[in-house]
Formats: sequence, structure tokens, C-alpha cells
Amino acid sequence: MTDVRDLLARVSAPEGSGRPIHDAATGEVIGNAPESGVDVLDDAVARARAAQPAWEALGHDRRIEYLLAAADAVDAHAEELARLLSREQGKPLNGPNARFEVGACSAWLRSSASVALEPQVLVNDGDTRAELHYRAVGVVGAIGPWNWPLMIGIWQLAPALRMGDTVVVKPSEYTPLSVLALIDVLNEVLPEDVLLAVSGGRDVGARLASHPDIDKVMFTGSTATGRRIIESSAGNLARLTLELGGNDAGIVLPGTDATAIAQDLFWGAFINTGQTCAALKRLYVHDSVYDDVVEALAEVARTTPMGNGLDEENVLGPLQNKQQFDIVNRLVEDAKSRGARIVTGGSPARELGELFYPITLVADIEDDAPLVEEEQFGPALPIIRYTDVEDAIQKANRLDVGLGGSVWANSRDEARAVASRIQAGTVWINSHGGLHPLVPFGGVKSSGYGLEFGVEGLKAVAVPQVING
Ligand code: NAD
Repeated sequence: MTDVRDLLARVSAPEGSGRPIHDAATGEVIGNAPESGVDVLDDAVARARAAQPAWEALGHDRRIEYLLAAADAVDAHAEELARLLSREQGKPLNGPNARFEVGACSAWLRSSASVALEPQVLVNDGDTRAELHYRAVGVVGAIGPWNWPLMIGIWQLAPALRMGDTVVVKPSEYTPLSVLALIDVLNEVLPEDVLLAVSGGRDVGARLASHPDIDKVMFTGSTATGRRIIESSAGNLARLTLELGGNDAGIVLPGTDATAIAQDLFWGAFINTGQTCAALKRLYVHDSVYDDVVEALAEVARTTPMGNGLDEENVLGPLQNKQQFDIVNRLVEDAKSRGARIVTGGSPARELGELFYPITLVADIEDDAPLVEEEQFGPALPIIRYTDVEDAIQKANRLDVGLGGSVWANSRDEARAVASRIQAGTVWINSHGGLHPLVPFGGVKSSGYGLEFGVEGLKAVAVPQVING
């Protein structure tokens, strides 16, 4: 194991240059991120283009070996990657946070190595023989967010490498150092120029998406940026996978045992201190169990430690950046002004640091409040009371987003009947947000299009080719 300082020295901009990156919990400067311009991006795309044919020609077996070696390299550096991620992103080492995220990176690399996309015989009737094959798409641009920067980066790049694509990564400007460190670790084992990263501002992201030599864009981020990427794809015809914003609803059905679901409800909403795309962001609870659910959640909130992520006991951390902090603060203040009931939290936890906001459960709130309608992406959960299940389904479906959703009940059958009516890419029963590397994940409506993970994920970074005859 190397030290975090060694890892930082490998990826930081030279002293006196670049952009300072701060520890999200303490505000301390942890390093300087290189601020590359579009010229560096253009050079990276050219190198990735030049390296692609040889990488594809290696074949699946050799690429699988590389991916497995890459997973081992991540494991070998797991602790220092987790520590750097914890400081830059803010998420604690423990709980479903930094160590968990680094573990997911090697797990997804191994899964991308193990899954197979076999050619398919479509017709073989004596007259016609047609087979469907999948070839590398070419050069993939991977543009990521700041909330799960390492794991989402791996989701984008691992299937692409497996299929014989080369990849240029543009990390979020909020969390560049941990992504650059991860790429550097992967490049301990990968051939030169197969995987490149360019750290820079939104102009670099825009150039990557619109670059004439990019064949596919894997994008995870906001719906607003996703729309811009769709526009730029009119120019380069890049294929797109768009994992955009969400505002996932959960419905607790009548009579559900509140204490049985409280822990899973809590983590469904507050994993990564609420900064998760497919987190539970609106909770609809039947009147018969409303008070019990609110109290059971409050009990978990009161006993779950928040603070500096490097302290082993903490499992909730700060917001990653001031912009996100301000969104959460504004939405909670608005809810208060409308007369909603603050059950826990409700104002910044300044005693912990500038960017800390406590777990804020907001009860007795109307469905048209901005805290319900907008994506809060932080530790505040509106809990809406309902009396008619049909009304709850209608409310869950009324927004123009559809990443995930969940139904909570004592009876699985009862929950399944409701689950099938939720407009979302994934609906969980008695849990929310759990992902598996072999199970496809993607949104509907304004939450984006395209699937990641498993065989469907490999297809998304390939082009189909029919061999006829
Ligand atoms: P963002 O859209 O502001 O930025 C994402 C990335 O896009 C950054 O790397 C940024 O530099 C880049 N970018 C900015 N302008 C660009 C342009 N014109 N062209 C190309 N790239 C450009 O998003 P964010 O604030 O980093 O992330 C938060 C959002 O991401 C939330 O809405 C959240 O729901 C969503 N998200 C979705 C998923 C998912 O899987 N669906 C996962 C995580 C986050």
C-alpha cells in the first residue's frame, strides 16, 4: 500500500498551478487539480483513436486479463483511494461510503470481465443464415458527476474497455483528484493510451461530447447538461447513454410494519448523505402508519453519526459543495415557510463544518412544495401523507423523471402489484437503490436513456453488425 500523498503526487498539478481542491469536511486544501484546456483534450482523443484498433484486435480473452489485473490494482490501492475520495467528496470511510465505493470499482471491473456478449444466430433456415455480432464502437467519452465519482467512472469505462473501445474520461470539476488517481492506478496495468483522463472545466466536457472523433458518450449528471449533450450529438452523431437526474418516490402501503422497514428506508434516502441519483427523494406514507414511520425514521436519524469522514465512527458526511448545500438549505427553508413540520434537523449543522447539513425529516408537507417537486440531492426527505393508494401512485408518477422508485409493504404480492405501475427504470420492493453488476440500470422520462451493467451494458458500448450469408 502506498500513502495518499504518493497517490496525490502522481496526479496533482505542479506546485503553483492548477486549481485548489478542498477537503469537503474541513475546507483544507488537499491538492491542486490540473486545469487542462481543449487542446489537451484534443490530444487525448487523438491518442485514444490511434490506440483503439490494436486494443480491439487483442480480443476478448486478453482484454479480460487486463480488466482482472486492473481490479487487482484497485484492490492493492483500495485504502488510499478511499481516503482520498473521503476527503475530496466528503463521504465517510465507513458505512455505504468510500471503502464501499472503491470495493464496488473492483467488483464492477471483475463483472465486466466475466459477462459475455455472444453472437446470436438470427435465422438459419437453409436459404438465409444471419448472425448478429457486436463490435467495438470506437472511442468513448466518459463524463461523470461528483457524487459517486469513482464507481460511476468505472461503470462507464469498464464495459467500454471490455468491448475493445478506448476511453477518454472527463471527471467532474468538483472531484477530479480521486478520479485521476483511480485512472492512474488502472494505468499501472493497462496498455498505453487505452484509457486517458483530462481534468478541466465544463468547456472540456462540452468539447469531449461534441468532438468529431468521439463515437459514444457515456454521461452521468444533470438533466440540463444531458440536454446539451443531446444537442451536440446532432453534430458528431455520437451514440449516447444518459444517466440523468431523478426524484425517486417511495410508497409505504397501508398497515406496513414501520420498525421492520425503518433502517432500509433510511439508507434508501440518505446513502451518501442523500447525494445519490437513485435515492429515495419523496416518501408517500399511508395515514394508518404515517406517525409510526416518521418516528421510526427519526429514531434512526438521531442515532446515525455524521461528521468528518476520516473518523471511523461516522457514516454520514457533509454536502460535497456549496452549490448543493445552498439547494438543500433553500428547499428546507421554503418547506418551513409553508408550515411543514421539521421532525429532525432543519438548519445547517455549522458546529460540524461549513458544508454540513443534518438529516432533515420534513413531515406534513404538501405534494406541490418545491422540496417534493425538485431534486434536493441531499439529506432532506419530504414525507407526504396519503389515504388512497391510487392517489399515491398518481403522485409518484406525476413528475417528469423516472430513475427509480420503491414500494414498501408487509406482503410482497401486494407491493408487486403497485410496483408494476410506477413509471421508473427500476422499482425496488422493501429496499431502495441497491444495484447489481449483472442487472441493467437506467432511467425513463427525463432521467435519461440507455442501460448500464451486464449484457445490456456491453451492447451500449458496442455497435451491432449483421453477418448475412
Ligand atoms: P452536471 O451535469 O453539472 O455535471 C456533470 C459533468 O458534466 C461534469 O463533469 C461537468 O463538467 C460536465 N459538463 C458540464 N457541462 C457540460 C457540457 N455542456 N457538455 C458536456 N459535459 C458537461 O452534474 P453534477 O452536478 O456533477 O451531478 C449531479 C446530477 O447528476 C444530479 O442531477 C444527479 O441526479 C445526477 N446523477 C445521476 C446519476 C444517474 O445514474 N442517473 C448518477 C449520479 C448523479
